[in-house]
Amino acid sequence: MDARTLAAARACKGFLDEAEGLRLHELACAHAGLGPILEIGSYCGKSTCWLGAGARDSGGLLLCLDHHRGSEEHQLGEGYHDPDLFDAAASRVDSLPFLRRTLHEAGLEDSTVLLVAPTSRVAAFWTTPLGMVFIDGGHSLAAARADYAGFAHHVVAGGILAIHDLFPDPAHGGQAPITIYREAIASGLFDELPATKTLGVLRRRA
Ligand code: MG
Repeated sequence: MDARTLAAARACKGFLDEAEGLRLHELACAHAGLGPILEIGSYCGKSTCWLGAGARDSGGLLLCLDHHRGSEEHQLGEGYHDPDLFDAAASRVDSLPFLRRTLHEAGLEDSTVLLVAPTSRVAAFWTTPLGMVFIDGGHSLAAARADYAGFAHHVVAGGILAIHDLFPDPAHGGQAPITIYREAIASGLFDELPATKTLGVLRRRA
């Protein structure tokens, strides 16, 4: 990855291991030619840098879907609340300005499209085949299932479904992401590829 984008990724708030970022970059580079890449849960843009650079460097496009009002754990009084992201006037979390700044700093404004809405509203009219979908949105089971149900079937044959925050041991983290990961395998639509830390990677069957 180029130095400018790497610096922006490292400076960005977020929860993504660098090995996972490198894997996302490699997957985005390899699959951007199959169709746009969709990231669900962009937050401030850390994973967006890795995916966006991969899409850009392969002549592709990254779509960034997030309502930017924060997941359950980001809300006021919750464990991952960040006061920097709290819009006092609206009395709500707003991560959109941070994402825009990250994309500017990373040089990714021309290779990304921001979709600011809940997953279900966008999924309701979506028809475009996707080269890759990365699910890293809300971590409640309902939110994770809505992300999966809304977009996994739009991944083209040979394309990638990647899911962040897989914790086989419930003592290490929430179980919603690994639940949809297991449901994806059980659907028969995907083959498992090697994971990178907590990043699960599946390939859509032909
Ligand atoms: Mg995550």
